Amino acid sequence: MNEVQTARQRLDRLLEATQEIGRIGGWDIDIVSGDVFWTSGVYHLLEIAPQEYTPTRQSTRQFFTPETLTVIEASFQDVINQPETHDYEIEMITAKGRHIWVHSLGHTTWEAGRPIRRTATVQDITERRQARQALREAENRWKLALESAGDGVWDWNVATGEQFFSPRLLEMYGFHEGEIDTNSDAVDALVHPDDLDLMRQDLQAHFDQRTPSYQNEHRVQCKDGSWKWVLSRGMVISRDADGKPLRMIGTHTDISARKKSEELIWQQAHFDVLTGLPNRRMLRARLEQDIEKCKRNNQQLACLFIDLDHFKEVNDTLGHDVGDKLLVDVARRIKDSVRACDTVARMGGDEFIVVLSELNATSDTERILQKLLDVLSSVFQLGLEKVFVSASIGVTIYPFDADNVEDLFKNADQALYVAKGGGRNRFSFFTPALQEAVQRRLRLTSDMHAAVALQQFYLVFQPIVDLASGAVRKAEALIRWQHPQRGLINPADFIAVAEANGLIIDIGEWVLQRALEQVQKWRATLDANFQISVNKSPVQFQSATGHRSWLERLQAMDLPGEALVVEITEGLLLDSNANVASKLLDLSAAGIKVSLDDFGTGYSSLAYLQKFDIDFLKIDQSFVRHLSSSRTDLALCKAIIAMSHELGLQVIAEGIETPAQRDLLLAAGCDYGQGYLFSRPLAADQFEAFWQQRGVSCDFQI
Ligand code: C2E
Ligand code: MG
Ligand code: MG
Repeated sequence: MNEVQTARQRLDRLLEATQEIGRIGGWDIDIVSGDVFWTSGVYHLLEIAPQEYTPTRQSTRQFFTPETLTVIEASFQDVINQPETHDYEIEMITAKGRHIWVHSLGHTTWEAGRPIRRTATVQDITERRQARQALREAENRWKLALESAGDGVWDWNVATGEQFFSPRLLEMYGFHEGEIDTNSDAVDALVHPDDLDLMRQDLQAHFDQRTPSYQNEHRVQCKDGSWKWVLSRGMVISRDADGKPLRMIGTHTDISARKKSEELIWQQAHFDVLTGLPNRRMLRARLEQDIEKCKRNNQQLACLFIDLDHFKEVNDTLGHDVGDKLLVDVARRIKDSVRACDTVARMGGDEFIVVLSELNATSDTERILQKLLDVLSSVFQLGLEKVFVSASIGVTIYPFDADNVEDLFKNADQALYVAKGGGRNRFSFFTPALQEAVQRRLRLTSDMHAAVALQQFYLVFQPIVDLASGAVRKAEALIRWQHPQRGLINPADFIAVAEANGLIIDIGEWVLQRALEQVQKWRATLDANFQISVNKSPVQFQSATGHRSWLERLQAMDLPGEALVVEITEGLLLDSNANVASKLLDLSAAGIKVSLDDFGTGYSSLAYLQKFDIDFLKIDQSFVRHLSSSRTDLALCKAIIAMSHELGLQVIAEGIETPAQRDLLLAAGCDYGQGYLFSRPLAADQFEAFWQQRGVSCDFQI
């Protein structure tokens, strides 16, 4: 073998081997003569031996599917373009009938508008195609899975900016296929401008591989112009060698409903449902901001606590619907009376807080305060009802009284307390003296804890006189506190505090016990029918144990119910929570009498007295004080007495200080009287002396 032959053989073997390795072959067609030449690689690919088959243009057709033939033939007939190269992926059928996919790259020679020769390589890419197919199927499967979870799917070719959207995603926004431009800029144009920055930041974080996946909530504009909240989640699934993202897939989940309920929850957490005003929490946040602003600008602000007078009465007598309407109207009137920069909030119940910001002079504040009192005390037309209320306002000023929310609230509350105590329908500013009063109240509370144990309390008794006969068969037990440092303290100065701190329960128990001991003694020594009146605070009614033990104590001491009269106030009857009617029934079932104290100072409606078991009505001393034959108070007293009798109640007049008052009341038909004219409240032994001295009945003329 010569050198040339050896080299030739080597070349043949190399061609053989490379064709095998690359699963590649070459063919050559002389289109004019119909001659076809195949390399061994093509025989191999088509699973046929060279000795079995010699290809011709006609017979090679068997190796092509009809679709492939169409493609090839079309290229031969493309006389306009006369393509010189081709690059196909085509399907072929081997001699054994197996379908394979080949990649064909080739060259065609044209002459006078006709193809005359084609040379091409063919490479078996069946496996690669299958892998690609499998991948596509897998993708379709997860896209389907994501879609069926209700999510819209997107698939983003980051390099080209091309986006694919699943039908569900389009449907979420009301679009049809093809209605959305698929490049990413057009898609970004649908995102709410306020959300775009954050969305891009989140995306960048994931692109830079700072986050394992991308996640962002934003609004997308639907075809109809409305906005939808979506949660967009995604992940880069391929990157180039430098880590630059190439492709990213992800989903859109419609979270509009969640956002809506979150918004509602936020709204409810920060705003009062009834009036739509900010609530305590919201107000606190705003006030803190306002304080900061005042600090910066050297300004003042006023914090107003507003409490409606007699709201409870409206609620209890006209019903909660009317009460609610009233609150809504009150909210509106307050808002209309202040500037837009001021904050009006509702604390619950009938309490409102107003923050007047950017104040420069207090005279400003007083004008607004007066305006508020005026608008709130003018008539409210609530449906068919005409309702009158008024308001009490406590005011404190930043920075003079306090420099933080907590202390401003405390001060305003104390000032409100004073406004209420001062007779309502007024405003009161916080002052240092007020602060001292608060301190005193606080000290009183701590002293009071010890007072029961240290026996600093004692009872005095004030006779209640039968006006017609002058007979004394009753007395009211009144508490006194002998304070070691402060001397004698009257109940007016500590009962309210005891009610507020709950000590009234213990103190009340002690009073009852002491009063029952006294009446037991006096029924034995003075008068077998003697009756003792004991004041019972509404707070004691609210406490279940406090209520029950009263009945038990009476039984334990073997006293009949008639020995005791319980004095209650109107406020209690209006308290719809305390189960008052049934508790009063308990008392009357035990034979205990009930007396309505201080009548005329509160709501004073005789009509609803019928609903309760009440035996006596005590006309308040403020009526009795101004009694004279010409005054309307007398007419009122007469009316109260007549109506009480009508309802089967007996009437006791309090605070009778002059014979003239006594005579007028007697003439008006009043049954009993109590007051300094007859006697001041007396210690037990003084009471006994008083009794001995004047006999069971005597003439009180002085
Ligand atoms: P109240 O039940 O209306 O008692 C009548 C008050 O009027 C008593 O004041 C009495 O001293 C006073 N008073 C009686 N006659 C006259 C008079 O002719 N002129 C004037 N100006 N005042 C007269 P006090 O003892 O200071 O009691 C004040 C209030 O404290 C009582 O009003 C009652 O609401 C409450 N209170 C007194 N003791 C107790 C108690 O043991 N428990 C409870 N829960 N409250 C009590
Ligand atoms: Mg009383
Ligand atoms: Mg009274």
